[in-house]
Amino acid sequence: MSPEPFRSKSYWLEVAGPYTESPPLETSIEVDVAVVGGGYSGLSAAFYLKQAEPGLRVALLEQEVIGYGASGRNAGFAMTLFGLTMETTKLRFGEAAVREAQQYMDRAVEHVGELVRTHGLQCDYERTGLITVAISEAGKRRLMREVELANRLGFSAIRWIEQDAVRSLVNSPTYLGARVEDNCALVNPAKLAWEMKRLCLAAGVEVYERTPVQSVQSGRRVALVTPRGVVNADKAILATNAYSIAFPQVRRKQVAVYTYIVLTEPLSPEQLAPIGWQGRQGIEDGRNLVHYYRLTPDNRLLMGGGDVEFFRGGGLGQDQHAAIRAALEDHVRRTFPSLRDVRFTHHWGGPVSVPFDMAPAVGYADGDHRLIYALGCVGHGVSLALMNGVILRDLALERRSQWTDLFFVNRRTIPWPGEPIFTPLARAIRGGMRWDDRRSEG
Ligand SMILES: Cc1cc2nc3c(=O)[nH]c(=O)nc-3n(C[C@H](O)[C@H](O)[C@H](O)COP(=O)(O)OP(=O)(O)OC[C@H]3O[C@@H](n4cnc5c(N)ncnc54)[C@H](O)[C@@H]3O)c2cc1C
Repeated sequence: MSPEPFRSKSYWLEVAGPYTESPPLETSIEVDVAVVGGGYSGLSAAFYLKQAEPGLRVALLEQEVIGYGASGRNAGFAMTLFGLTMETTKLRFGEAAVREAQQYMDRAVEHVGELVRTHGLQCDYERTGLITVAISEAGKRRLMREVELANRLGFSAIRWIEQDAVRSLVNSPTYLGARVEDNCALVNPAKLAWEMKRLCLAAGVEVYERTPVQSVQSGRRVALVTPRGVVNADKAILATNAYSIAFPQVRRKQVAVYTYIVLTEPLSPEQLAPIGWQGRQGIEDGRNLVHYYRLTPDNRLLMGGGDVEFFRGGGLGQDQHAAIRAALEDHVRRTFPSLRDVRFTHHWGGPVSVPFDMAPAVGYADGDHRLIYALGCVGHGVSLALMNGVILRDLALERRSQWTDLFFVNRRTIPWPGEPIFTPLARAIRGGMRWDDRRSEG
């Protein structure tokens, strides 16, 4: 039998095991809450809604299959980073917000572990910690400032280690020191998404796959138009992250930015020996256009990031990128010279959601309490999106809570400009980041 086409969207989807699709929506239905998007945000929102109010009729509508978007393609770091960096969050929202964000994200990473333990989720969960390595003097200064800020705000578990210490953990000639944080876990992201679907089905959520929502009209109730039926709901949740551009109500709150990954063949003990990496930590570097990398359960090296591509309008679906792929393969060889002859077996990419001010946003669309959205993961949304389900639940139930009082809930977003300003502006921002990275790396 030929593999289902969605399997080619990432290595994770390829190896996540057998999958049974839920049938598409074939008729019009009336529900209490309709959730659009079968990634972590939508799955978590639907699950927590049914847990809170088992009598609610909740439908989740996914245009392809569960985990088709970023949730089935990411690198699998459940990490505490909120938005781009602590410093950007401080610049935009102030220090109190940085503290609140870090507390929320610490909780979010613990929450992934709790989901795995409580519900027995089979997703190759490993609590490895995170190392953010400096590969330039400028990157080192930036990371040390972040550690200082974190410590000043009371997050003393985030620490700086010098060059010898980081190289004794993971040996690369490019490392100059590192920020270390223990609160980070690695997962198979596609398995995690499918396990969340299992929880949703068990809780009584109606899941409809291959059911694209073509428009959302808010009247007395919300009408979600799909190819074969209309879903009429008291509340609708747009959990569409980078795909949110399709909905005028939230279109300008974010843009889709593509990040790409390469994957090697499984590394032999001889290939791994010069590198060490016994702790199997997730690794990022301190660049503007960050690289992220890790080992898979069968010891393949996954390397992602380093550059990004952006598309406005119909660009979603650009899942491969020859130039970024070549640069990533080259970065593997530069970081670990002992892997100079390693073979690469997979390459893929996916869209992340980027608001103008590089911070997540959750809330009521245009103040309309019938329409709720979550977007703006800025590439760091595994733990965030799963945790945001709790906020989405409380917003849908119109229940004020510690979660709905968070500073990024119902915050003012800065709209991205349309064309002809968008493309030159986005290129200028990326160009500035590239230039700064090149300059600092000599
Ligand atoms: C290559 C890559 C690497 C990443 N690495 C990491 C990482 O290591 N750690 C981390 O924290 N974050 C990472 N991220 C980001 C993380 O994956 C996302 O933040 C997270 O998965 C967002 O979940 P979501 O549910 O909000 O969005 P998504 O998973 O994108 O889900 C949105 C869903 O909505 C569906 N949809 C869209 N439009 C419609 C419609 N009209 N009708 C019905 N359904 C629709 C889509 O098909 C999709 O399934 C990475 C992302 C990518 C792409």
